[in-house]
Amino acid sequence: MDAEIIAVGSELLTPHHTDTNSLFLTDKLNQVGIEVRLKTIVGDDRERLASVFRAALGRSKLIILTGGLGPTEDDLNREVVAQVLALPLREVPEIRLRLERVFKRLGRTMSENNLRQAQIPEGAVGLENQNGTAPGIWIEHEGVIVLLLPGPPRELEPMFESACLPRLISLAVGDRIRTRVLKVVGLPESEVDQRIAPIYKPYANPATTILAVSGSIEVHLRAHAASEEAADALLAELADKIELDLGDHVFSAHGETLEEVVGMFLGMKEKTLAVAESCTGGLLAERLTRAPGSSNFFLGGALCYSDALKTRLAGVAPKLLEEHGAVSKPVARAMAEGIRKNTGAAIGVGITGIAGPDGGTPEKPVGLVFVSLADERGTQVREFRFPGDRARVRLWATQAALEIIRRRVRS
Ligand code: ATP
Repeated sequence: MDAEIIAVGSELLTPHHTDTNSLFLTDKLNQVGIEVRLKTIVGDDRERLASVFRAALGRSKLIILTGGLGPTEDDLNREVVAQVLALPLREVPEIRLRLERVFKRLGRTMSENNLRQAQIPEGAVGLENQNGTAPGIWIEHEGVIVLLLPGPPRELEPMFESACLPRLISLAVGDRIRTRVLKVVGLPESEVDQRIAPIYKPYANPATTILAVSGSIEVHLRAHAASEEAADALLAELADKIELDLGDHVFSAHGETLEEVVGMFLGMKEKTLAVAESCTGGLLAERLTRAPGSSNFFLGGALCYSDALKTRLAGVAPKLLEEHGAVSKPVARAMAEGIRKNTGAAIGVGITGIAGPDGGTPEKPVGLVFVSLADERGTQVREFRFPGDRARVRLWATQAALEIIRRRVRS
C-alpha cells in the first residue's frame, strides 16, 4: 500500500516551523511496509487544501492529513475533507460528552467552536486523543483510507501508534521494508557511484541511493519482502558485495558515526588520545565526546588558536612558528607531538589550517589544513585543501583527522 501525507498549517510554510510529523509518520509506516510516495505542505486555505486533497484521492490508497483539527476558524481539515468526499458532518454524542468532561475538569467553559471538534464525517470513526481535545478521524471511503490527525506531535504520535498502526499493519500484511546504510569515507561521491553502480544496478530490490552527508558518503539500501528476515537477507547479499568492493573505505554498516567507530577502535586497543586544535576550535574534541563512554579513551586537549597558546599548551617552539607560520606542516607535527607529550596520551593529534573566509594567501589559500598524528610508531602529517565555506572546512578537517586516527588504530 502506498501512502501520501498532507501537512496542513500556514506556520509550516514559514522559516520558523518544520513539518516533523511527516518524518515520524514515514518512519512508522515504513516499518510496517508502507511506502510514502508524496508529501505536501499546504497553508490554512480552504481552496488549496481541497484541491490538494482531491488530487490525493485520485492517486493514493492511504492519505494522512495532519494539523487543522483544532477549534478555531482556520482549522479546516474536518470540513474540507467532508466536503470533498460529500459526507455530511455529524456530531458524535460520546465525543461531545468527553469534551464536556475535559472542559469541566479544566474549569473552562466550552464555546460553540469547541463543539466543532465533536463532529466527524458520516461513517467515519473518531480516534481518541490522550493528550488534547481534538479527536483524530479514520475514514474509509471508496477503497481509500483517509486519516485526520492533530498537529501537535505529542498528540499525533500516541494516537497514531495506538489507534492507527495496529489497523494499518493488518491491512498491509505481506510487505515489510528494511534498510541498511553503508557509510563511506575517503572517496568522492562520483567514484563511489562509478565503482558500485555495476554491482547495485542489476538489483531492483533492494533499491540503492547514494547521498553525500556531512563529510561522508552514504549508500542507502532499501529492501521489500514478505518478512523482515527475507528483507534482511536481500540487504545482506547486496551490502556484502558493495562492502567487498569498497573495502576499508566503508567505516560503518550499522548506523555508527565516524567518531563512534574511532572511539570503538581506541577502546578495543586500549589507546588514549589527546588533541591540539587550532582552526577547528574544539570541534574534533566535541565530536569525540559526543558518545557516552568517551572518557575511556579521550584524555582531552588544547584549543590553541593563538601562536602563544600553541607554544604554551602544545609546546610548539616559537622559532617554528616564526619560520614556517602557524599553518604549516612542521607546526602541525609539533602540535601533535607536543600535546601527546604534555598529556601522556598514546596518540596526539594536531590540526592547523585556514578556515576562511579571510586570511588566505596564494601560497596558503583558504581551505589549507594540516592534520598530524603522533604515536609510538612515529608522526605523520597530511596536507589537505578543502573546498567550501568556513563551516565545511572545519567539518572536513575533523573528518580527515578522525579518518587518520581510524586507519592508524585499526592497523
Ligand atoms: P490544536 O488542537 O492544538 O489546534 P491542530 O490539529 O489544529 O491542533 P494545528 O493548529 O494545525 O493543529 O497545529 C498546532 C501545533 O502543532 C503547531 O503550532 C505546531 O507546533 C504543531 N504542528 C502542526 N503541524 C505540525 C507538523 N506537521 N510537524 C510538526 N509540528 C506540527
